[in-house]
Amino acid sequence: MNIAANLKVFKTGPGALVAPSDMLSEIVRGDCLSENDPRQWVPLGDDNYSLPLCLNASEGYWVHLLRATKPGVINRHRHSAPVHLMTFEGHWHYPEKDWVAGPGTYVFEPPGDIHTLCVPEGGAVMVFMANVRGALLYVDEAGTLSGYDDVFTRIDACRRHYTAVGLGADYVRRFIR
Ligand code: FE
Repeated sequence: MNIAANLKVFKTGPGALVAPSDMLSEIVRGDCLSENDPRQWVPLGDDNYSLPLCLNASEGYWVHLLRATKPGVINRHRHSAPVHLMTFEGHWHYPEKDWVAGPGTYVFEPPGDIHTLCVPEGGAVMVFMANVRGALLYVDEAGTLSGYDDVFTRIDACRRHYTAVGLGADYVRRFIR
């Protein structure tokens, strides 16, 4: 078997890099903490924004930064699959739980968990990174389903927003794998 025949060369000379020819391209965002272009942030309701990092249609997950600009309830939801969260700024909590996440707090949310994402009063801007697999199932107090988000609704929301702000419908494609 000739592995070399199935590699593509990204760079020649010293430090040459080779990879399988069918490998997907990497995603690099250097502007995650930059305020240079607010159009990058996709509105989630009135006071919250999402910055897409990786919208993975092939495996059904998305990775994004969530930024909340005001205290309050963001939403109540149930997870169909696990979530990993890392907090960078501000604080957030679930009234259903006895802890508060702050800068440096990592959280694993197991499939089936139901909770209400809240930013406490007096808090500053809150930013966390989330890797969300499967779907967020929005539920009311009685646990009745009122809506959902998955990687496909997130891609649609990004596409609508980037079209509306002039970046174009195809802008979101750079984050899709
Ligand atoms: Fe959650």
